[in-house]
Amino acid sequence: MILLSKIVKSIQPSITLELNSKAIEMEKAGEDVVKLTAGEPDFITPKEIIENAYKAMLEGKTKYTDSAGIYELREKIANFINKSRGTDYNANNIVVSNGGKQALYNTLLALLNPGDEVILLDPAWVSYEAQIKLARGIPIHVPLKFKNNFIPKASDIKPYLSERTKAIIINSPNNPTGVVYSKETFLELYELIKDKNIYIISDEVYEKLVFEGEFFSPTQIDELREKTIIINAFSKTWSMTGWRVGYSVAPLTISKEIKKIQSHIASNINTPAQYGSLAAFDVDINYYINKFNERRKFVLNKMKESDLEYIYPKGAFYLFINISKYDNNDLNFANQLLKTKKLAVIPGSGFGAKGFIRISYATSTEMIEKGLNRLFEYVNGVK
Ligand code: PLP
Repeated sequence: MILLSKIVKSIQPSITLELNSKAIEMEKAGEDVVKLTAGEPDFITPKEIIENAYKAMLEGKTKYTDSAGIYELREKIANFINKSRGTDYNANNIVVSNGGKQALYNTLLALLNPGDEVILLDPAWVSYEAQIKLARGIPIHVPLKFKNNFIPKASDIKPYLSERTKAIIINSPNNPTGVVYSKETFLELYELIKDKNIYIISDEVYEKLVFEGEFFSPTQIDELREKTIIINAFSKTWSMTGWRVGYSVAPLTISKEIKKIQSHIASNINTPAQYGSLAAFDVDINYYINKFNERRKFVLNKMKESDLEYIYPKGAFYLFINISKYDNNDLNFANQLLKTKKLAVIPGSGFGAKGFIRISYATSTEMIEKGLNRLFEYVNGVK
């Protein structure tokens, strides 16, 4: 018998996708399903971006490019990053990749030796653990506290550091909680790792979706900049999830290695998508941000009709709800909710947080209202 990779065998298929496929099957069978599962904006990509990609194709820009991405795009990305963070990156710090996902994987491949440990702050986005394992690292889960809104404190992380800790993955604005970390959180983190050779991988894909307070990146702290790799993407800000345009921003010693990995694994990303992305920086995104904020306010108002506890969301487009007093088994809760009320949500276990569910408000207010009514009916029935 041929034995497959033990690492691949240790990775679970996403429970998120499983539930979503069930919901889609029910929809196909004609059932009135409400899906509050989407991890993507429901808007069409702004037309300027689509037109730029189309124009590029007609002009014959359909060939390979520099593996790290066309220079013009990398330069624009560097300016975009520098503008809001006061940094001085240039095109050579940037490697364009197939979504934020590949930027993260490239980074892990560049940093990790087999057996190196990477700290994850639970609840953490589903792909972090799988990617760390695929890169031959060891994921170390740090449970954060509900009473602290799942915002990390140095004292939460410290007991989990070891000689083998290579990196900490941070995600603010956060999926699934919607919290936005303040400068103080990053200063605490700095104090914790300042004498150690530990990198920060800062997943900033929701950076523009901040509705209260301000986005802060660890690269804004001078001493952290050389230890930080930013993971970012066009996906959420410009409604471009299907285009697969993401990037890493890293010190030159690391971006050089990331570029090698990108070139051998995928060469450049889709060329027309790169040209389309050039137009993104001139698009006025306030319309989208305001729309998400309206929906967030709608959700918060609607939640007053129930006594469910949740994490107060200041960014991204998710609400993380504590359902533990109804059912500590969130998988069971989500399955029953789908079966009896035809409402699809994401169980918290997928993020390493039992007793929670995540809903997405990246959909119309009508759908949000319908979905939340079903959730309330369900918990009232369970009570
Ligand atoms: N990081 C987080 C926290 C996400 O939620 C997502 C997408 O859901 C990504 C990264 C990946 O984004 P992309 O679609 O650009 O690969």
